[in-house]
Amino acid sequence: MKVLLPRSLDTYDQVQTQFRSRDPIGYEGSEWNLYEFLFSSPTCLLDPFGLCPEPRTEKECCDAAKQNGDDDDDAGGVICCDGRKVSCVWLSGGTDPDDPDAPSDPIGIGIIDSCIKEHEDVHHVHVPDCPSKIPHLKRPNTKPGIGDDRAECDAYKKEEKCLLRNIRKCRGNPQCVRDVRDEIELVRKRRAKHCKRAFELEENRRRFLGLSRHTFFGI
Ligand SMILES: [Zn+2]
Repeated sequence: MKVLLPRSLDTYDQVQTQFRSRDPIGYEGSEWNLYEFLFSSPTCLLDPFGLCPEPRTEKECCDAAKQNGDDDDDAGGVICCDGRKVSCVWLSGGTDPDDPDAPSDPIGIGIIDSCIKEHEDVHHVHVPDCPSKIPHLKRPNTKPGIGDDRAECDAYKKEEKCLLRNIRKCRGNPQCVRDVRDEIELVRKRRAKHCKRAFELEENRRRFLGLSRHTFFGI
């Protein structure tokens, strides 16, 4: 017997069929379709049957972005993944074999990585909301009007504080202390450059606004 379903039930039936017909063990080959299909359906938004996919973990998101070849020369970055802003540490200094000054102590590298993570978290407020469609992986830009320098200035301030706070975890291990101190020096330079530029830009804007208000009232 053939039954005509209303549009919404029809969609639900397709979801059920697609879900049931996929190999229960492997997601290979069908993962993309499955996620795309479920997330774009109203059934998924309400999820009454618990069929919706769990968003990927932060690590899975970052691994996928790295596989895409996203900025792996960088120390870190923010990506949009499954509708969330995710902070990734792309490359701790210790993994660059060509750099003789690269940090090499595992504890030092751990401290540096965790502080890069804190830096990237600061960027979350400076980037627009991520598209919510699953799956989605992209690097967002800084919100227009905020300015990259302000975002970087704030982020490097946080990173520097984090390094200063955590250097005690080296427990006097000379290589670890050296690694973290080198990083602090680098971060300070970058912080100073970006904060100076951000301040100048904001000062100019203030002056411009002050002047235009003055002109406007004709005083
Ligand atoms: Zn940054």
